[in-house]
Amino acid sequence: MPGPSTPEPVIRLLARKRIATGTLPVLRVSDLDAGYGGGDPCCVCDEQINALQVQYDVQAPHRRLRFHIKCFALWQLECARLIEASGASPPRDPRATDDDGSMDPSNGSGGSLARPRVNWLGPAFRAL
Ligand SMILES: [Zn+2]
Repeated sequence: MPGPSTPEPVIRLLARKRIATGTLPVLRVSDLDAGYGGGDPCCVCDEQINALQVQYDVQAPHRRLRFHIKCFALWQLECARLIEASGASPPRDPRATDDDGSMDPSNGSGGSLARPRVNWLGPAFRAL
């Protein structure tokens, strides 16, 4: 049975594709409902979210979105990536600068922005 068992890279690709086509919004979710599924299709993988699966409900500007927990997390990762990529001055993660030899060490402005920005996703991911 596909859906929650669909490989993570496939789900991530689906999320990316749906964002690109406008099917899914780029949204940083701060408020969501969770419960057991009622048979509605997931907005990322299109598989039904059945009563044995956790469903995440997100109120988007024009509609209500439903996700498997894994699909939700991957969609949010893609959103975070896109929001950061389009940000005016994306904060730098000091751990991510290893491959960036051009970074000026005298630029200390990133210090206060070093906290992880998607930290809240951590617990959800450990539960997958
Ligand atoms: Zn799904």
